[in-house]
Amino acid sequence: MIEVSEKITKLPVMEHFYTLQGEGFHQGKAAYFIRLGGCDVGCVWCDVKDSWDAGKHPLRSLDFIVSEVKKHEGEIVVITGGEPLMHDLTFLTEQLHNAGLRTHIETSGSSPLSGNWDWITLSPKKFKEPLPEILPHASELKIVVYNKSDFDWAEKWAAQVSPACKLYLQPEWSKATVVTPLIIDYIKAHPQWQLSLQIHKYINVP
Ligand code: SF4
Repeated sequence: MIEVSEKITKLPVMEHFYTLQGEGFHQGKAAYFIRLGGCDVGCVWCDVKDSWDAGKHPLRSLDFIVSEVKKHEGEIVVITGGEPLMHDLTFLTEQLHNAGLRTHIETSGSSPLSGNWDWITLSPKKFKEPLPEILPHASELKIVVYNKSDFDWAEKWAAQVSPACKLYLQPEWSKATVVTPLIIDYIKAHPQWQLSLQIHKYINVP
């Protein structure tokens, strides 16, 4: 018997909002964020723990999601989580593209890659490491720095992404005053890396 994968027409949406992308290469650009419920990574410092249980969030149709995005001017849609790749995103990206939108994802890479993406932000987490298959597809590698040992860990992943992949070090928010000076020194010595700040937290937008 041939197994036919089920067409996913609804996804658990924790929140969705129009704002500025606060991090990485597209920092400062208008973007519509869709935060999907569900995460099995378990970062101790996670600031969206409410996202972990997908069952807590309403299932929204793909038509609803696209129509909400289309109420606004921006063309970038960022799918985040939670861990969005816990869901098959093939049909979501298809519908977003059909609506003339650009598809970006923020993922730990710990679940299989699905969907057709214009930009993939790969942010590996120690609690559940990325699957090797996603590494060549990363557009940017974003390492959240919690302590000094994270620099070696960052290099481990930088060695496995494509040469075109942008490299970012970002202070973990609660440790920012301690680790930001360390990141600055590290980038001065290793200029292939750049600093990513969560500017949305400084300008008080979601
Ligand atoms: S991967 Fe993201 S949502 Fe999941 S636990 Fe880590 S920080 Fe939280």
